[in-house]
Amino acid sequence: MSSYNENQPVNSSAFSELTKLEVRRAADNACWACQTPDTDVAHVIAQVDGQVQIWKEAALFNSDTDFKTIANGIALCPTCYRNFDNTADPGFIFFPTDLQFFIDFEINDQDRRRNDAGLRRRVPTAEDYKAHQLRTNTIPSDAKGGLYRCVFLKNFVLGGRFPAIMPDLCKHRTWHGNPIASLRRAFAVLGTPRVYILDKRIRDDLEKLRYLYFVADQPKPIDSLLYDMYRLTPSTTSKRPLEEEQQPSQSPSKKPKLDNIESNTNDRRPTPSNSRTHLHWVLGPEVTTNQVIQMYSPLFSPA
Ligand SMILES: [Zn+2]
Repeated sequence: MSSYNENQPVNSSAFSELTKLEVRRAADNACWACQTPDTDVAHVIAQVDGQVQIWKEAALFNSDTDFKTIANGIALCPTCYRNFDNTADPGFIFFPTDLQFFIDFEINDQDRRRNDAGLRRRVPTAEDYKAHQLRTNTIPSDAKGGLYRCVFLKNFVLGGRFPAIMPDLCKHRTWHGNPIASLRRAFAVLGTPRVYILDKRIRDDLEKLRYLYFVADQPKPIDSLLYDMYRLTPSTTSKRPLEEEQQPSQSPSKKPKLDNIESNTNDRRPTPSNSRTHLHWVLGPEVTTNQVIQMYSPLFSPA
């Protein structure tokens, strides 16, 4: 695994003005998400994205992928841009409507690679996805790209005051860019509480695709050392009932009774009520000065 600074910018500079013009033109000079005319051009793979290297190592992005081309641009208004770029709690994402195409493509590609470990993964390009949707008559011949699902995870458009406009805004629409870049944003949402907004079938397809890309059938883990650290031994993978796991080889008669343990010990374990106190106090009212000195004096001793 190559070393990298996880916060390194994926590009040294932003989009050129010409690229921005072209991305706006591809969106008919309106926000791709909410259709308002005031747009900027957002990077789908952000300029600072700590995951880029691992996506490259998984051959999901080519090593020479240029993230400042129109394939990585989407025209968004300032509000949608802000919600799209809120990586901790995204309010808007988009990803290919036909996830099954990507799942099937990957399964076929894994079969291809299984016969020759030296082969590099192939993933669908924007052109592959568009061609597939043209073949299935899903998009018109003059479409700019394949169809994408437009997903608002927060009801922020016009402050959420006009729910009647949402069915129109949530319709699928075409996008010209790199579909794998959009999946980078979609997979991230699987780890947020707002994932409930996606229909179960869509969630399942996204999870399946993520599994295929990062877990299943990898000839060599991206990081073999850490991968090996977390392999479970056969004994720890046995499917014993939970109760048995918790009390191995003890018949009910031999089980120590909790009451006896409590009565035989002299330690002053916190009761449920003062457990809560311990969570809220660093030094509770019951702590003596001597105890404070014992607790903290090592921190102030000369090294
Ligand atoms: Zn917008």
